[in-house]
Parts: sequence; structure tokens; C-alpha cells
Amino acid sequence: MQQQASDLPADLRSPVDGPETGAADLSTREFDDSFVRALPGDAQERNFVRQVPGASYSRVAPTPVAAPRLLAWSDACAELLNVARPRNDTDPVVEILSGNRVLPTMQPYAARYGGHQFGNWAGQLGDGRAITLGELCSQGESWELQLKGAGRTPYSRTADGRAVLRSSVREFLCSEAMYFLGVPTTRALSLVGTGDVVVRDMFYDGDPRPEAGAIVCRVAPSFVRFGNFEIHASRGEHAALQRLADYVIGKHFPALGTPSPEVYGRWFEEICRRTAVMIAHWMRVGFVHGVMNTDNMSILGLTIDYGPYGWLEGYDPSWTPNTTDLPGRRYAYGQQPQVAAWNLARLANALSALIQDVGVLEHGLEVYAETFTSSWRRMLAEKLGLASLDRAGDDALVGDLFEVLQQTETDMTLFFRRLALASAENVEPLRQAFYAGDALNEAHRSQLVAWLARYAARAQQDGLTVAQRTASMNRANPKYVLRNYLAQQAIDAANAGDSSLIERLLRVLKTPYDEQTEHSDLAQRRPEWARNKAGCSALSCSS
Ligand code: AMP
Ligand code: MG
Repeated sequence: MQQQASDLPADLRSPVDGPETGAADLSTREFDDSFVRALPGDAQERNFVRQVPGASYSRVAPTPVAAPRLLAWSDACAELLNVARPRNDTDPVVEILSGNRVLPTMQPYAARYGGHQFGNWAGQLGDGRAITLGELCSQGESWELQLKGAGRTPYSRTADGRAVLRSSVREFLCSEAMYFLGVPTTRALSLVGTGDVVVRDMFYDGDPRPEAGAIVCRVAPSFVRFGNFEIHASRGEHAALQRLADYVIGKHFPALGTPSPEVYGRWFEEICRRTAVMIAHWMRVGFVHGVMNTDNMSILGLTIDYGPYGWLEGYDPSWTPNTTDLPGRRYAYGQQPQVAAWNLARLANALSALIQDVGVLEHGLEVYAETFTSSWRRMLAEKLGLASLDRAGDDALVGDLFEVLQQTETDMTLFFRRLALASAENVEPLRQAFYAGDALNEAHRSQLVAWLARYAARAQQDGLTVAQRTASMNRANPKYVLRNYLAQQAIDAANAGDSSLIERLLRVLKTPYDEQTEHSDLAQRRPEWARNKAGCSALSCSS
């Protein structure tokens, strides 16, 4: 799991200069602009939609909004940056977080990237509504602050550059929830309501409606994607490609050393390794990204761009939350490991101008496959409370479990969380996980009992006590995830002016492996009313 700033002893944290909280006012901080300095920028300064050959970014300022209001704030992310929560909505910090104020040391820009979308090369995409303000150094680390929904850029194509509250609540909450689950991810500092209306046709059915606009301040060491490299490679912009690679290696992979053909190869291997670990975590917690286009794949192996993502409720490898993906189910839960490999192959292709030896690129892709397999195996063992899955019969035990899980609609999160409490003699603790509840049929029940008996016998071989096993399982199997319908309830309340559910979810999802019994209502199966409700089980890319 990642270390939090709060885990560090006070004397290791950077000096503080704020008032009571010890954190500094964001509006007094100095920003760096290494991305802008290091890379080729767009010579055109006017902000209009266009192709931008040769450039890695375009300088563009956020478009001001009418009436910014701070709707949510992540204390944990603020601690990382050592910044203080704004006192009220007239605080200059809220102006910064809404794009209404740009500090003198900020050089805001939109990055240029391309991407493969749903398997096809889509050409230039770029930050159509995300604008990076700058880089903030805190505790020896550099953090890019980026406003999503900050207005039009040269990459907005036909869209408005804005984001709705609905999708912004989802991105804000999920970024932080994933971090606390131990999944590599970009972070979110703030959620600001803009006071402006945004019109969206949510289900692309000819029914556009006004919705509240919002802006999330996203935070990550870098938001560079596979697509930033792909666009340079696809246009034959070799010098820009190399500058971008050298910059990313120098700033984010310094341990690899001075860039050289050999270093590029090791860098690609490291990207493959990190991507594999990220995907294994997604599989562990039941997360489905929903739009794994190469423009949504982070070069740092972080979960990035929370759009129509979802959490598995009933275990079903073919489930996708994204209505746009329904025909092919390309980005369904069970497809994610293969799709990441396909995306890495697209990146390999883009980097082939820097890494001429095809064998080196192939080796990276093998490292992806090996790392995914070993990480997922280790995580599965942890989910089952077993020391390893290396004994004879273990593969069959796991394979049969996933079959049992699919025989009747079984909530993945609840099943694994409660597995340690059940036995062949007593399946009752698992009942909460079954969507059919009491109507469980006999055939399924006897299969489940038979599996539990095998599992108990296998667990005994490791010689762990039930208490030891439960403790380790509870570290791998969260009790609380951002269930789709909970996010929707938080959105509905926020749209009605009440952000208390956002706050409560943020608080509870901070320790998702703890029992927190007083919050058990947030760890229940999806209620029936949410089964087919828009936003709860089906999401479009409209955001
Ligand atoms: P996504 O599917 O959200 O990852 O977005 C794909 C591309 O569309 C990216 O280049 C986005 O910046 C762009 N995009 C999405 N929504 C908007 C919007 N409302 N305005 C401008 N660009 C957008
Ligand atoms: Mg995107």
C-alpha cells in the first residue's frame, strides 16, 4: 500500500508556514512549469479548435465561471500538497480551483495527445476540457494540479470544455476511494460547483437537459498518457517524441538513468510492470474502468480519467458499466487484462522509433503478462487467506469458485469479505451476498457447500488460525467500495444542494478495510430499485 503523508513522522514533513493547520495557503505558493519549459509548445496563442502539429501542449487559460462554490475537499490530498482548506467561497483558493484566478507562477496549458478509441486510431484528441495549472512541490515530490471542466482548449473539438456535477462527483470520490483501497491512481483535491449550467444529452437519445457544472482539481505526479507519445509517433514528430520520453524519464523515472536506447527499453518494461500491477488491483477490488482507450492510460501506471466506470456488484466478467461499450463489451471487467496488453502494444508501436530492437519491446510485453499473472495470483491468494496458490489443485479451486459465483448473482465485494466467516456447515454469513436472498436454489447451495468444504481443507494445509486468515483476508477484501448506486445517491443529493453524502462517503472510504459498523448501511447489496436505474448500473460517456 502507498504511504500517506500523514504516516510520516512530523519531523520528516516539509516546513510549514500556514496558520493553525500548519498547511500553507495555495494562493501564496510558487508553481513550477517544467512540462512547459522542457517540451515543444504550440506557437499559436489564440484559443480555437485546430490540429496542432509538432507540439506537446498549447498554452491556454481557464475560462472563468459565474459563481464558484467549494462542494467538497479532500483533506488527505491537501495534506499531500501541504495546502490549507479554503475558509469560504470567497477565498482566493476557491477562485484558483475554479479557474477564475491564475497565479503569476502558473503557465496553464492543455496537453496534446492522440489515442486508440475502442480499437481504432482516433487521431488528435488532447485535453479538451482539462487544463493544467502547474506543478506544486511538496515534501520533495512534484504534483501536477489540473482542472477538469475548465473551459475550451484547442483540443475541445466540437464540445464545450465543461464537466457536469454528476461526473465530477464520481471522479472526485473515486479518485480518493481508489487511493485508500491501495490502487495506483491520480488524486482529487477539490470539487467546485461553477454556478454555470451545462447542457448534456445524457443517453444520446435526443433529450438534452441543463445540468449543474463543476470542476475537479485533479492531482498526480503527471497526467501524461500513452496517447501523448502516440500522437508524436503517428505524425512522424521524432524529435518531439524523444523530448517527451526524455522529460518523462528524467522527471518521473530518474532511477533509470540518462536516456539512451537501452534506458528507453527498461523504461518501457517498467511501464508494462506498473500497468500490470494496476490492472491486478482493479481485478482485486472489482473495478471496471469502462473506457480503456489509450488516451486514458497513464504512463505512470495510475488509474486515470474516471468516466463511465463502475464497480462489480454481481460477479460477472462480461459486465461493463459503459452503455457506449455495450455492443462489443470490449472494456468489460474480465477483458481488462487483455485490453491493457493491447494498449501497451500500441505504446510499443509508438516508441519503436526510440527502441529499434523489436525484441526489447516484446520483452516488455512479456513482463506485462508475467507481472499481471503473478500479481493477480498473489492477490487472489490474499483474498482467499491462503499463503500461496502454488499447491496442486489450487487452480481448480479458484476456477471452480468463479463458477460458483456466476451460478447465481453474487455480490463480489460481500462474498469475499464474508467468506472467512462461512463454512460448509454454515453458509449463512454469505447469504447477504446473494441477490436472490432466501430464494437460493438447492443445486447452487450444494455446489457452494462442496466448494466451501474443499476450501476449508485447503486452508488447513497452510496452518493458519481462522483469526490469522480473517485478518489477512480483511486487508485484501474491502468492506466498502464506491458502489454505483451510492455514488448516484450522492449526486442526487448534491444536485439538490446537499453535499453531506459526498462527505460521508469520502470519510468512510478512507478506511475501506475497517469494519466501521456504524456505516454498514454503505456495505450492502445494491437495492433492487437501482438495478436498471440510469447512473446506477448504466452510464454513458456523456459527462
Ligand atoms: P474521454 O472519453 O472523457 O476520455 O474524452 C475523450 C476526449 O474528448 C478527450 O480528448 C477529452 O478531453 C474530450 N472531451 C470529453 N468531454 C469534453 C467536453 N465536454 N469538452 C471538450 N472536450 C471533451
Ligand atoms: Mg480521457
